[in-house]
Amino acid sequence: MTQHDPRTVYLRDYTPPAYLVDEVRLTFRLAPHATRVLSEIRFRPNPDATGRDFFLHGEGLKLISAHINGAQVTPELIEGGLTLDAPDAPFTFEAEVEIDPENNTALEGLYRSNGMYCTQCEAEGFRKITFYPDRPDVMAPFHVRIESDLPVLLSNGNPGASGEGFAEWSDPWPKPAYLFALVAGDLVAHSGSFTTMSGRDVALNLWVRKADIDKCAFGMEALKKSMTWDEEVYGREYDLDVFNIVAVDDFNMGAMENKGLNIFNSSAVLASPATATDADFERIEAIIAHEYFHNWTGNRVTCRDWFQLCLKEGLTVFRDQQFTGDMRSHAVKRIDDAMLLRAAQFREDNGPLAHPVRPESFVEINNFYTVTVYEKGAEIVGMLRRLVGDEGYGKALDLYFERHDGQAVTIEDWLRAFEDATGRDLSQFARWYSQAGTPRVHVAEDWSEGRYTLTLRQETPPTPGQPDKQPVVIPVAVGLLNPNGDEVVPTQVVELNEAEQSFAFDGLSARPVPSILRGFSAPVILRQEQSDETRTFLLAHDTDPFNKWEAGRDLARTNLMAMIQDGTGPDAGYIDALGRGIADESLDPAFRAQLLALPGEDELAQAIFETGHAPDPTAIHEAREALRHAIADRLGDVLTRLYDTHQVTGPYSPEAADAGRRSLTNAALSLLSLTQGGDRARAQYRAADNMTQQIAALGVLLRIGEGEAELKAFEDQWSHERLVMNKWFGLQVAASAPRDAAATAEALTAHPAFDWKNPNRFRAVFGALSGNAAGFHAPSGAGYRLLADWLLKLDPLNPQTTARMTQAFSTWKRYDADRKTLIRAELERIASTEGLSRDTSEMIGRMLAD
Ligand SMILES: [Zn+2]
Repeated sequence: MTQHDPRTVYLRDYTPPAYLVDEVRLTFRLAPHATRVLSEIRFRPNPDATGRDFFLHGEGLKLISAHINGAQVTPELIEGGLTLDAPDAPFTFEAEVEIDPENNTALEGLYRSNGMYCTQCEAEGFRKITFYPDRPDVMAPFHVRIESDLPVLLSNGNPGASGEGFAEWSDPWPKPAYLFALVAGDLVAHSGSFTTMSGRDVALNLWVRKADIDKCAFGMEALKKSMTWDEEVYGREYDLDVFNIVAVDDFNMGAMENKGLNIFNSSAVLASPATATDADFERIEAIIAHEYFHNWTGNRVTCRDWFQLCLKEGLTVFRDQQFTGDMRSHAVKRIDDAMLLRAAQFREDNGPLAHPVRPESFVEINNFYTVTVYEKGAEIVGMLRRLVGDEGYGKALDLYFERHDGQAVTIEDWLRAFEDATGRDLSQFARWYSQAGTPRVHVAEDWSEGRYTLTLRQETPPTPGQPDKQPVVIPVAVGLLNPNGDEVVPTQVVELNEAEQSFAFDGLSARPVPSILRGFSAPVILRQEQSDETRTFLLAHDTDPFNKWEAGRDLARTNLMAMIQDGTGPDAGYIDALGRGIADESLDPAFRAQLLALPGEDELAQAIFETGHAPDPTAIHEAREALRHAIADRLGDVLTRLYDTHQVTGPYSPEAADAGRRSLTNAALSLLSLTQGGDRARAQYRAADNMTQQIAALGVLLRIGEGEAELKAFEDQWSHERLVMNKWFGLQVAASAPRDAAATAEALTAHPAFDWKNPNRFRAVFGALSGNAAGFHAPSGAGYRLLADWLLKLDPLNPQTTARMTQAFSTWKRYDADRKTLIRAELERIASTEGLSRDTSEMIGRMLAD
């Protein structure tokens, strides 16, 4: 890809649509290979348009006929759609097209999954259903008629007439085509109801295949909680008579917020104690909330164009993070979010795929559904809230909804709502949206005569296309502790908006110990000279849970870096401090489990790369294992006590307190097995009455090279459960010793249940392979070759999932010459393949670019 690729779309080229749509009527005559779609679209000239060129998007459509105001017309079919001479006055366009859902393996537009029809239209899938101005700034009410013998026929909005072989739906709320949805299948519903704050009754249904009806109760409760929460916290009420969720096995993403008809990857909604883990339950609760929250942040107020994607995603992720914090623990959730941001978004932001939260250009928009747009987008909303305060944030959101309901808007509109509501100038803050890269904040301290001065300096390394960076506004939450561990200055937020700035704290009797970036108040990397003694002090005394955890994490990282780079051994001082932390019964068990989680291998690789050295994934893996052994050795007694005393008794519940205890005991189990063998895990496996305990025990056994019998038993027990079998596939690769990982993955691809066209199954194996850092980067290059082979196989069928999974290679420039040569060869092999999809070639092109 070059800068002047004709397929590239630029933010700066935006022009308003030539025509607007007042109403859409669609009729679907469903047939697996020849579905007919009849459309009747009422257009009118857009008074704000700069031209009158009539263009409708369309891809892979067989045009049967077209009419304008009832008269037959012959449109000119051009690349990506059709054009014709349209009146400069309101008119009705009708078209009949034929499509082939059965052969739609890309899972965009209308497709089939296990005999059921379903759709995925975000971002640009509607153009594979019929000719339409498929852009988010064209909003219209939709009326849909579905004709099929299948028993359940669903679309957006409220149900209308229905009868033998047909059903009609009407969505009164104007929406862009990307929110269109249709489902038809042999489904059953788990039903419920909700009364909104103004007293309206809403029917709630979770539609699934019969065999899954026992996995719906949790999702239904999560939906009700989400509806209540959005009323109480944001004052947002649901606006239709019915809210439908459908579970689909073949789905590229997690879930989709289509108006009134959310379509979910079955892994993101189906759960029972026997088949889903605590982590699954928490994720399902969050995704249901996320999609529901989109009804206001995304649907009622939508994006003008796809460059504004973070407008709906960043805000909605922030809202679902708040929700999870309220339902569970804010401290634990914040640490989880920071771990994800560092593992995935910092990785992206510091490599060839770095891009601003609002990108300036794209070739394939599907490639920009990234952790940067979502997670860093959410961090920006969090910083805004911190800067204007809770009250200012509430006022700004009220104004945003009031001003822009029913509109397709931009980041500028969003920021203006904050400026108008709070009087704050956000012009410098807006750089967070346009500037890629992770800012580094360097800390210097000074102490004299009762005055403590903190000097903060910011710099952001260059990213592709952005060599020079300007200072951003960074809210830094700071607290000060005195040497005996008491907090002398409680948390306050200082605003770093220049390249370098000093902040003074007066009236202190002794030199304080600073706790900086409390609550991870900005998505930055803190560079701070800190002794292990200070970190140990903060791990023991910091009142801010995030920084207390961070101190332990820093100790672990420092120790691991020294082990890897200087060949030192595990640090008993760190291990003892960790032991005191995990034994502290005043702390939440879930938080103590997080204390026990060492920095990941990929995170360590990046840290080593930043010291100017090529990381060796094998050495990193070995050091991490050695430290885990040393912890298990030295803390055996406390780990045994934790394991024994925090077992959950009684019936399984996925709620946070029990889940936290299981995560602590399973972290202890994993360590204890290193020094004491697999007996304890085997006993847990046998006694387990829920998936959390069962799969944790199996994973522990596999990681110590045991568990062959349990692995077989697990397969026999669960071979009929697709979602559970995804775990079985993934775990074997994740738990493989590095030298065996590629071979394990390859062997699994020959398993009769390896349905590689199913994105969940494909990701289970190959996501686990790229996640096993030392295995994927094994010196033979077998991991690279295997992944490349399978990406090339998947690309012609499903470009979106293929392109996403190429990211496994994105860190390739970190490594030594041998690994770089091996990876480059695979990237070039993919790039030079005839007929490679636009999605995948864009990703590979960006990775290979200098
Ligand atoms: Zn979303």
